Amino acid sequence: MKIHEGDARGIFAAFGLPVPPSRFITKAEEAGPVAEELGCPVVVKAQVLVGGRGKAGGVKLASDPIEAVEKAKAILGMDIKGLTVEKVLIAKAVDISKEFYVGMVVDRITRKPLMMISAEGGIDIEEVAKSAPEKILKVVIDPITGLLPFQTRKMASFLTSDKDVARQLGPVFRSLYQAFMEIDSSLAEINPLVVSPDGKVWAIDAKINIDDNSLYRHEDIRALRDDSMEDAGEVEAREADLSFVKLDGSIGCIVNGAGLAMATMDMIKYYGAEPANFLDIGGSSSPEKVLSAMKIILRDKNVKAILVNIFGGITRCDDVAKGLLEAKKRLGIDIPLVVRLTGTNEEEARELLRGTELVSADTMDEGVKKAIEIANA
Ligand code: GDP
Ligand code: MN
Repeated sequence: MKIHEGDARGIFAAFGLPVPPSRFITKAEEAGPVAEELGCPVVVKAQVLVGGRGKAGGVKLASDPIEAVEKAKAILGMDIKGLTVEKVLIAKAVDISKEFYVGMVVDRITRKPLMMISAEGGIDIEEVAKSAPEKILKVVIDPITGLLPFQTRKMASFLTSDKDVARQLGPVFRSLYQAFMEIDSSLAEINPLVVSPDGKVWAIDAKINIDDNSLYRHEDIRALRDDSMEDAGEVEAREADLSFVKLDGSIGCIVNGAGLAMATMDMIKYYGAEPANFLDIGGSSSPEKVLSAMKIILRDKNVKAILVNIFGGITRCDDVAKGLLEAKKRLGIDIPLVVRLTGTNEEEARELLRGTELVSADTMDEGVKKAIEIANA
């Protein structure tokens, strides 16, 4: 789950990071009093859950409260990478003499927390990773020992030769690591971490992603979720307890089990087409779940055919078949359905589907090919 910069700043501040004060607003007029309160200059920042807001014109400096209102007016309602700006953050601005990048991720290779830093901050870090990887220092942290003093010293000296700045960086690295661990973050990033002309270090941007599987133990963070920033289908799927990820292809997929769902997507690609989604309806799939899945897939106007690929273990094929028939009746589906059901109660399922318009397939291979053929027709 992603959270807004303003909320991420709050978390960072609670862990002791040097974050300038800020307030959310949703109406441009509110920028005036907030700018007054914080003290100018301020920076007016679009709160959308994508990166590169600066480049898109969603981050603007204002030198007085009147200008803050003007900038807020310009940014509210703006479209940034398909997301509408409904909220902006007014933050006390900082003069910048140096910009660093500092980020934490979970490293898949060492299976440990990894801190990444670079003196090339402010800009696209992915670009630096590609064009000048030597400008990024990666430090693997053992979660048993935590971040060790020699590591923070090494990182500080990689970024600066200024002793006063280096002294402030140690606590920044430690606080970022601590925040990352305690809130079960999958990514925590400060880009840029800046040094002001008077030599003080400030975190002027904040990005935090939280591992969805940990949200059950972070009630306060879960409350920060902003549904308006997500695909409507993904929100609906979460509510219906389905794992769904929207993709850009034309073949809708209803599959049980994440492994089979991945294999189905691979096979669709193998035969030259693109899946419209990843969808795992889970182990015990009631007819209602199939109905919800169908509704979510039908929102996507790119879908030309739907492939239902079920391996009946705990899931009963006849339950799925009932769900499909119910969906066909209730939702008036005019998109062709290709169905491959195998395993528990497959005979009963086949009986239920006999004589309907559903295209049946005996194997996964055949199902995928038929779905592609129909989608391309
Ligand atoms: P992003 O583009 O979505 O990553 O948004 P950022 O918060 O990183 O802002 C983009 C850029 O705006 C930064 O890299 C800075 O160059 C500039 N910026 C943001 N806040 C301030 C500030 O307080 N003072 C100054 N001078 N520039 C800022
Ligand atoms: Mn940034």
